[in-house]
Amino acid sequence: MPETLIRNADHILTMNDTREELRGADILIRDGVIAGVGHDMATTGEVIEAGGCVVTPGLVNTHHHLYQSMTRAVPGGQDALLFGWLQTLYPIWARMGPEEMFVSAQVGLAELALSGCTTSSDHLYLFPNGARLDDTIAAAREVGLRFHPTRGAMSIGESDGGLPPDSLVEKEAAILEDCIRVIDTHHDVSDGSMVRVGVAPCSPFSVSRELMRDAAVLARDKGVMLHTHLAENDEDITYSKEMFGCRPGQYAEDLGWTGEDVWHAHCVKLDGKEIDLFARSGTGVAHCPCSNCRLGSGIAPLREMRDAGVPVGLGVDGSASNDAGNLVAEARQAMLLQRVANGADAMSAREALEIATRGGAEVLNRPDCGQVAVGKRADVAIWDVNGIESAGSWDPAAILLAGPTRVRDLLVEGRRVVQDGRVVTVDLPGVIARQNKLAARLAESI
Ligand SMILES: [Zn+2]
Repeated sequence: MPETLIRNADHILTMNDTREELRGADILIRDGVIAGVGHDMATTGEVIEAGGCVVTPGLVNTHHHLYQSMTRAVPGGQDALLFGWLQTLYPIWARMGPEEMFVSAQVGLAELALSGCTTSSDHLYLFPNGARLDDTIAAAREVGLRFHPTRGAMSIGESDGGLPPDSLVEKEAAILEDCIRVIDTHHDVSDGSMVRVGVAPCSPFSVSRELMRDAAVLARDKGVMLHTHLAENDEDITYSKEMFGCRPGQYAEDLGWTGEDVWHAHCVKLDGKEIDLFARSGTGVAHCPCSNCRLGSGIAPLREMRDAGVPVGLGVDGSASNDAGNLVAEARQAMLLQRVANGADAMSAREALEIATRGGAEVLNRPDCGQVAVGKRADVAIWDVNGIESAGSWDPAAILLAGPTRVRDLLVEGRRVVQDGRVVTVDLPGVIARQNKLAARLAESI
């Protein structure tokens, strides 16, 4: 691959080990890797002029349900709490299939790319009408984002006292079998890998204790990560106490769901002991502030988690509970929410951006990403700070306070995904039109 030089950026927020910030600096990219960061660099390859721009590592999204971009702002789910929201949406999701999964993933990933995201995980836990994890992986390959899809699952349907309709649950043996299939087919452990698969039963209230335990055994046997929803709101805690006789942290620990190869979404209701458990075991958290606000779940104790040493990244969560998928906006929301809870000095813009970049890479066990530093993968977001939202800013590098919410350019593995504010890897207007058509068909069928 030829070289690329990002030249003369106003600011580079490297997020390296000393959190260095450079002015008027360059980044040299070779073969998908950052080969140099400094001043007055030269290349015979392509030059991207970055005067008037702030450059950051690409943002890392640690929790999403891409398929939900097909069901944004559904009237019956706009004002419901988590369990009621789920019960409104399950019958709609049950009508989706492979095409809906593919197109909604394209939309969700392109939307993330425009907001500076270079790596995204996805939590797909329902496979109606022949849909497969492979549908979303195909979409990620086309859009060009680094992708960590997780094979989710639900196995306890309504007739067994669970929340989802029986048509959306699977047999546990079949779930484990398909986990093995998608890992063997797609999981790539290499440095710079573009696809890493995880194992991810939907939540403790939609699968059995046995499946949680078997999933952990399988993931460790295969050397892949584990992911699920945990301690999202008060209903979740009550359910855990009533059904399992313990809090979610205890349940997770008992079943092998703590460790550096595990990350949990939300964790809004973790108590002090659970935060300590997560810190000691290196268990990661995907913080999803907009979704937590939208569903009224509460404010996650992010300050306490960070201070205790819990690895924390950000997630936009699914687009049925956000309903946007803008990761840089999510970082701003994370900063604001900690200030609501703990005061104006509780979280700086730079710390929130660090969580969104380096923090997310750490949660996903990607030390090769999340920093602008020599030897790291060339995942870079270039933000134009000449626009109206930054006009008059005394510190354009504090990009979450007065910065754009769309990138000018985005490179993943050194390849351009966004150029001059437009996604260049797929025909986005065509993808949006296809999504709207499919969503309209779903709406008609209800
Ligand atoms: Zn979620």
